[in-house]
Amino acid sequence: MASVDVPACPVCGELGVPILYGLPTRVAREAAAAGKVRLFGCVVPPEPDQWTCSQNHTWRAGDDETLIAAIDAAMGRG
Ligand SMILES: [Zn+2]
Repeated sequence: MASVDVPACPVCGELGVPILYGLPTRVAREAAAAGKVRLFGCVVPPEPDQWTCSQNHTWRAGDDETLIAAIDAAMGRG
């Protein structure tokens, strides 16, 4: 599995967990249950945050490639 350079939370420094919007697939629900992604539901805000942390801060890293790689890794596709 490729390693992903997960960004740290700008507030508390915890490692980020990728946020998934939309109706989750079974794989997505399993990844969420394992704490590898966080499901934020079907309503995507105009400026969606990309990452969250264990303290529930959310932020955008402005790096879609890292986000996609992290989601792929969480889904077992990395
Ligand atoms: Zn945080």
